[in-house]
Amino acid sequence: MSTRREARVTAARAIRSHAEDVVRAALVALPPRERTRRGLAFHAYQRQVRTIMRADPVAFEVVETRMLAEGHRTSVIEVTLRGEVGVDAGDMLHVLWRNDLDRIAAADAVTAARFWTTPIPHRPSRWARVGASGLLESVVDLSASTDSDPARAERITPRFFTVAGVEASDVRLQVTHTAGMPPRAASFLARVRPGDVVEARVLPHPHRVAHDGPGLAVVTGSGAAGVFAALRAGASGIRLVWGLGDKQLAPWVQEELREHLRAGRLSSLRLALRPERVTDLLVDEPIEQMAWIYVSGHESMGAAVDAALRARLGESVLREMSDGLRCIVST
Ligand SMILES: Cc1cc2nc3c(=O)[nH]c(=O)nc-3n(C[C@H](O)[C@H](O)[C@H](O)COP(=O)(O)OP(=O)(O)OC[C@H]3O[C@@H](n4cnc5c(N)ncnc54)[C@H](O)[C@@H]3O)c2cc1C
Repeated sequence: MSTRREARVTAARAIRSHAEDVVRAALVALPPRERTRRGLAFHAYQRQVRTIMRADPVAFEVVETRMLAEGHRTSVIEVTLRGEVGVDAGDMLHVLWRNDLDRIAAADAVTAARFWTTPIPHRPSRWARVGASGLLESVVDLSASTDSDPARAERITPRFFTVAGVEASDVRLQVTHTAGMPPRAASFLARVRPGDVVEARVLPHPHRVAHDGPGLAVVTGSGAAGVFAALRAGASGIRLVWGLGDKQLAPWVQEELREHLRAGRLSSLRLALRPERVTDLLVDEPIEQMAWIYVSGHESMGAAVDAALRARLGESVLREMSDGLRCIVST
């Protein structure tokens, strides 16, 4: 999970962001340090990221939101966006979330201001002018404070979401939202409604589910997004172990999973419902016969599954699979 934060973007922080950018530019220009498939893929990806981050984000229109899985405190919501830009199954959207209207109304009064823009990787801070509404909506982070002074307030920083399906110009995301979380990116995507605009950059992240099996995907909650992307793009032979805690799947997703099973896109589906954990279900999974393994979701689940895989496959096989991007642990 990315929890990158930016507090107080002062002139000193702006200057430091340019120094960081020189280092990033050098790392991108230098030859890859690791010549494994993984090392080469990430090196090529960083080059693409530099170009994409330096361009402006693109606008998507929200066309639908629907509950995918609902629990006592945590839900997964599927959001469908429509855009005029090419997106592939398994890409990531780097979403520029916005403050909600209630918090904007409660924020300290503000007028148009000159300010240092929020630095993000490959896009250092600039001295710019912003109107009052732009500042309150998409510059200062009002999730924890009413402070709207761009020289003092914490800043909004974009968050990654894995594309869960692409059909024509429609792009689906699956978002985990937990009651009581500070209202930032997940809360923004959980409350958008049809007609709203979401700005994002599209990133072709190398961590993606392969489309030909036999492969094993071990995921929790919205960690299944990359698996849905592959299934909806016509993948085959995926064994899915999906940890849902206390969440109940909505009827539409149960029907979709049955269809993936009937069509052979899923070769097996096992749901871990509390108190069962995905690691309990791994014990009798034919891990050794898998061409690839994909793990995504909670960090603690990722560490537990990694340990289970290490015990079953041994250190060197796991490293070889990981170097070849045949074992991906994305948490
Ligand atoms: C490569 C990548 C792909 C990702 N793909 C997805 C995706 O497809 N779907 C998705 O929902 N997220 C995804 N994430 C996570 C996402 O980017 C955000 O980190 C997440 O939505 C929380 O962001 P936030 O701004 O709402 O809260 P933050 O401000 O980042 O988090 C606030 C606090 O809440 C805690 N917190 C965050 N999430 C939860 C949670 N679910 N339950 C309880 N506490 C929490 C954090 O630990 C933190 O302390 C992905 C992250 C990465 C790095």
